[in-house]
Amino acid sequence: MKILVAVKRVVDHTVRIRVRPDGSGVDTDNARFSINPFCKHAVEAAVQLAEHGHADEVVAVTIGPAKANDVLLVALAMGADRGIHLVTEARTEPLAVAKLLKAVVEEEKPDLVLLGKQAVDDDANQTGQMLAGLLDWPQATFASGIEVDHNGLKITREVDYGRATYALKTPAIVTADLRLNEPRNTALPQVMKAKKKPVDTRPAADLGIDIAPRLTVEKVSPPPERTGGQAVGSVAELVDIIAETATAGERT
Ligand code: AMP
Repeated sequence: MKILVAVKRVVDHTVRIRVRPDGSGVDTDNARFSINPFCKHAVEAAVQLAEHGHADEVVAVTIGPAKANDVLLVALAMGADRGIHLVTEARTEPLAVAKLLKAVVEEEKPDLVLLGKQAVDDDANQTGQMLAGLLDWPQATFASGIEVDHNGLKITREVDYGRATYALKTPAIVTADLRLNEPRNTALPQVMKAKKKPVDTRPAADLGIDIAPRLTVEKVSPPPERTGGQAVGSVAELVDIIAETATAGERT
């Protein structure tokens, strides 16, 4: 099996985001970026499938600015064999990413495309689903388990009523949830080795695909500031405060 795994560069999830004063978006100028956490689970799943003899090649792909090669390096250090970097400095919406990934799929012909279930910057949770739609391939989203058998894939999903297992024929799209695995940490030797792995870097524009945004961001605003806590003397006082707050809420 050949696996393509899509990795996105996002503002590091531990960084406190600042909204631009004009409300046009978030200020990423001096922010620290890293690989999207769910993409790390997707890479780990791909590498584990290779280690267990189910895959003979893992190709990591990213779409983004020149600096996004750092997330490819993470995927390569974790064990991916080679990388593809479609360079664009433009804002790419999930549909644009899905269209570009479709073109990569047509070139690479993988049996499985693994993605994160969502990118933590825009929380879109759309790219895998759109890619499955564009390719007309079966998909399983939010996977918390992946097994390979003679019929294809067995995917486990955690759902409200427990766990559901689905059988998927390949080629297929699978998006990774947090509980899928524990992504490995990489040390300097793996990073040094990763730097020697091949990366095919080319402008996304070379694919001749319309990636113009379809959405207009009207306004971005920060969450309301938290008001300070208040110490209460008794449970009865707490109940009174809750009742008052609820009544005030009903009035507004
Ligand atoms: P989203 O639909 O934006 O929440 O992203 C879901 C998943 O799609 C991510 O976890 C990645 O696996 C993939 N993805 C989204 N954007 C990109 C990108 N620019 N480059 C590579 N993969 C991406």
